[in-house]
Amino acid sequence: MVTTLSPCWYCSGLINQFGSTRVVIGESTTFKGGEDWLEEQGVEIIRLTNPECVGLMTEFSERYPDAWNEDIGQE
Ligand SMILES: [Zn+2]
Repeated sequence: MVTTLSPCWYCSGLINQFGSTRVVIGESTTFKGGEDWLEEQGVEIIRLTNPECVGLMTEFSERYPDAWNEDIGQE
């Protein structure tokens, strides 16, 4: 699986449940979900820390704070 942003806990559970073996993550700077837990479950995690992905998610969170905080922005 390839994601722009670190997978949230819901997505992390599904990744594990459906047996994905590798997740490529664009960035975990603006939000860090369950990637460490997935790694502990044996899923290969590839962290790109891609500036374009960081910029995309930063711009989104600043432009649409209500949408961001409705779900992913809250801890
Ligand atoms: Zn999710």
